[in-house]
Amino acid sequence: MMTNGTGKLVLVAGGAGFIGSHLCDALLSEGARVLCLDNFRTGRKTNLRHLEREPRFDVIEHDIIDPLPRSLTAGRARFDRIYNLACPASPPHYQADPEHTMLTNVTGTHHLLRLAEAKGARFLLASTSEVYGDPDVHPQRESYWGNVNPTGPRACYDEGKRAAEALTFDYERTGRAAVRVARIFNTYGPRMRADDGRVVSNVVCQALAGEDITIYGDGSQTRSFCYVDDLVDGLMRLMESPENGLGPVNLGNPHEMTIAELVKRVLALTGVTASVVSRPLPVDDPRRRRPDISVADQRLGWAPRVSLDQGLKPTIAWFAEEIAPPRETARP
Ligand code: NAD
Ligand code: UDP
Repeated sequence: MMTNGTGKLVLVAGGAGFIGSHLCDALLSEGARVLCLDNFRTGRKTNLRHLEREPRFDVIEHDIIDPLPRSLTAGRARFDRIYNLACPASPPHYQADPEHTMLTNVTGTHHLLRLAEAKGARFLLASTSEVYGDPDVHPQRESYWGNVNPTGPRACYDEGKRAAEALTFDYERTGRAAVRVARIFNTYGPRMRADDGRVVSNVVCQALAGEDITIYGDGSQTRSFCYVDDLVDGLMRLMESPENGLGPVNLGNPHEMTIAELVKRVLALTGVTASVVSRPLPVDDPRRRRPDISVADQRLGWAPRVSLDQGLKPTIAWFAEEIAPPRETARP
């Protein structure tokens, strides 16, 4: 889509990550100047290597928990848009350092909101379907308040994002910044890490390596998987929507399936016959999840276009490269 990004100055916190690096690519292709801020905890320099010689792109290594560098806050620095994607997204990664995850969401988001206020920049928070917890309303609409365990192992992430949303809407209510909040549902695609720990990366890598496929629980729990290009298009449409006061907006693919069905599709597309092994269902693992995307559809004209099979093909090709043994360099 064209969002008339030419010449816009855009800050992308978390731009070295899976979704963030695709967002940087899409913003640059629309003519924006992009500054990526990242602590490289889960993001990777290789995700941005192809942008090394891009004059409209720059990277600063920084943790958003810490006060922002002076080069960003100084009077001469200017930003039109601030995307906050900084936060580990996979359960094993965000649970590895829960205190850091919570502070990234609260203190980190606060730092970026203050920057948005100081610069008059529009601010977008990458929130999550996890704010709905283990939902007792299905599919999930933005008006649903959620069913989150505030003391469990996922709370650093779920409650961190809920606090980040609260802070973001307080900035809007008090007129301190124009804000957008995307509630992102399970997203997959190239540049996910092989050690990410989420279901798509685990299952694809296990199939490609000829290992047993791990299904947590009985595989009847559901998720709805969105291809990364669709998601990035949704994020940019939301950011560029002229409508203030939209409230949170679900972005995800409403095509719901069980984890067992996902495994079947991956095995069919990789042409692998593998055994499936059952592992315990993680604590507080949501039973069902599917976005109601009528707000995104009606207000942003957005709906995903990429089917699961279409999206899995480039994803499988990416992981095949990722986990391939390094090629021997030819001897002279
Ligand atoms: P990711 O882990 O690949 O990317 C997160 C990026 O943020 C990484 O580059 C990481 O190094 C950086 N980061 C983390 N903490 C930081 C900090 N304190 N300071 C600076 N940089 C920091 O994850 P992703 O899948 O690309 O997710 C991006 C965003 O989208 C996250 O905010 C996540 O919560 C949200 N989201 C993702 C999904 C999904 O399915 N991928 C679903 C819902 C929400
Ligand atoms: N899951 C699985 N096998 C794996 C990894 C995850 O069966 O190797 C399950 C997990 O328990 C959950 C679903 O797949 O029910 C999606 O998990 P993921 O971590 O990808 O995302 P989230 O739980 O955050 O939606």
